[in-house]
Amino acid sequence: MSLNPIDRVAEIVTIGDELLSGETVDTNSSYLDGLLERWGWIVTRHSTVPDSVPAIAEAIQEAARRASLVISSGGLGPTEDDLTLEGLGRALGCPLVLHRPTLDRIRLRFEKRGTPMTPNNERQARVPAVGEVLLNEAGTAPAFRAPLLGADVYVLPGVPGEVRWLAENILRARLDRGAPIVHRRTLKLIGFGESRLEDMIQSVRDAHAARVVFGYRAQAAEVHIKLAVRGTDTTPIEPAEARDRLDRVEEDLEQLLGEAIFGKDEDEIAGVLGGALMKAGSSVATAESCTGGLIAAMLTDVPGSSAYYLGGYVTYSNESKSELLGVPAATILQHGAVSDETARAMAEGVRARFQCDWGIGVTGIAGPGGGTPEKPVGTVNLAIAGRGSIWSRRLSLFGDRSAIRLSTARIALDQLRRQLLR
Ligand code: ATP
Ligand code: MG
Repeated sequence: MSLNPIDRVAEIVTIGDELLSGETVDTNSSYLDGLLERWGWIVTRHSTVPDSVPAIAEAIQEAARRASLVISSGGLGPTEDDLTLEGLGRALGCPLVLHRPTLDRIRLRFEKRGTPMTPNNERQARVPAVGEVLLNEAGTAPAFRAPLLGADVYVLPGVPGEVRWLAENILRARLDRGAPIVHRRTLKLIGFGESRLEDMIQSVRDAHAARVVFGYRAQAAEVHIKLAVRGTDTTPIEPAEARDRLDRVEEDLEQLLGEAIFGKDEDEIAGVLGGALMKAGSSVATAESCTGGLIAAMLTDVPGSSAYYLGGYVTYSNESKSELLGVPAATILQHGAVSDETARAMAEGVRARFQCDWGIGVTGIAGPGGGTPEKPVGTVNLAIAGRGSIWSRRLSLFGDRSAIRLSTARIALDQLRRQLLR
């Protein structure tokens, strides 16, 4: 089947005053972006408009002029600020009519709940005369589809759970074209600078530049190498061919970076580490100061983590480091709470307390206050104690308090992963 160039172009229109006042983050658009990309569409624009009939009508009309698929969300509810079907009616140039089956459905829902139906609930059953009602089993508001200016326009409710239900149960069967235009793979590393990484992998990038697009994303000590194989709307690339190109780049990057790559795509460091601990039959405990339990939270976020994570201490004060972990008061006095000596004593102390294979100890200055010329904000000492071995390092981290804490936790988990490979 030959495709019209705009056949695969989609736009998203989100509707609601709350999306323009800082009250609600527009998560529906990003959810639909991801879905549409996997289904073989290219999303080229988002528009967000207030709850206003002319604004809705204009946004839908303009989107339909540019794209062949338009999906809107929001404004299908029963209250008078829900105006999407009126806006769509205006864009289509047709009146709203009562849709009997929808009215009956709404009535039934109210009867079942034993609450009286108010006239504004009836409004939800008034739909444009042109188009089709899509049964929304996740809510009362019907979803709707109408043809406009050669495009297919789908209007969905705003509630994210209803958008997901409709996408999975109604849109997938109609809109999934079986293969994406852009095939992606993300390789993940911890503890590299973005620019240093780009420099390191220059040769691999050059070798594959004609067939794979490289991108980078860095956040709180984690760097992602983003690989993409892009077809165009007129010449899509076969999934097998795309996979092959991505595999070849991945192999070359693995050669170059080896164990520094901790995972790909959906992988998270805590889950990857958990798998490694499970495989090794090893256990771990944590002693945290500046991260305040974040490492424990990340470890226990993984289902089944009780198989290897025994527990930990949050020791924020000097006294608690001594009392709970057995860090000698003299060590803290002589070297400071943020020091290699203290981090090592914390890691060894927690390992001994829990009698486990590995102990993680972290102590640092997350800021914004508390820095000194010798130990500026972002100074973190990390230690990992194993049976008869101890690894430690001083880190100099960047960012605000939450970035420093998250970076510390990620590096700690990644370092234990690397220790397990020894
Ligand atoms: P309902 O039938 O529940 O009234 P609706 O179509 O009228 O649905 P809205 O009233 O616009 O939907 O929004 C319902 C809820 O969904 C609100 O809590 C709103 O903040 C949220 N919401 C709306 N649009 C979005 C969006 N684009 N992203 C995330 N949340 C949204
Ligand atoms: Mg609304």
